[in-house]
Amino acid sequence: MEDVFCRIAKGEEKSYTVYSDDKIMVIMDIYPMSKGQTLVIPKKHFVFFYEMPDDLIYSFYKTVNIIGKAMIKAFNPKAIALIARGLRVPHYHLILVPIRDGDINDKYFSVMDAYQGFPKVSSDVLLARIEDFKSLAMKGRPQVSEDELIDDMNKLKISLKEIQNT
Ligand SMILES: [Zn+2]
Repeated sequence: MEDVFCRIAKGEEKSYTVYSDDKIMVIMDIYPMSKGQTLVIPKKHFVFFYEMPDDLIYSFYKTVNIIGKAMIKAFNPKAIALIARGLRVPHYHLILVPIRDGDINDKYFSVMDAYQGFPKVSSDVLLARIEDFKSLAMKGRPQVSEDELIDDMNKLKISLKEIQNT
């Protein structure tokens, strides 16, 4: 099964690599929902998270944890969301999404919070949040240039090094 992440793991396709070892690679997402969005990917091909063997799980999530810290340090978002749906690229990856006030993910989670009753809001408020989310979605994702990708990658690498040296 050949997909884009298998090809990147083999070095057959270009990527903006933040970190790489024998099992795991961390790359900048070139189609980000949010600037600075990063993917943590096992080099071996698995489709869903529950297919990863025990010996990979620890290093995978350990990497997710360190990259999360590096992203907070490098980009200073209010939070980082972890997203894994498993339905776009059929090779397991976790998407680390910086969440900033008022961005599309912030709006999305605010809609989902309202839907779940946290906090309890009227249907008018819920509809207003959905409208907010809809208008951001219609604008399309942020256009991130190659220079910005490289800049974010370098910022992350520096933060990663600083974290590992402390
Ligand atoms: Zn693959």
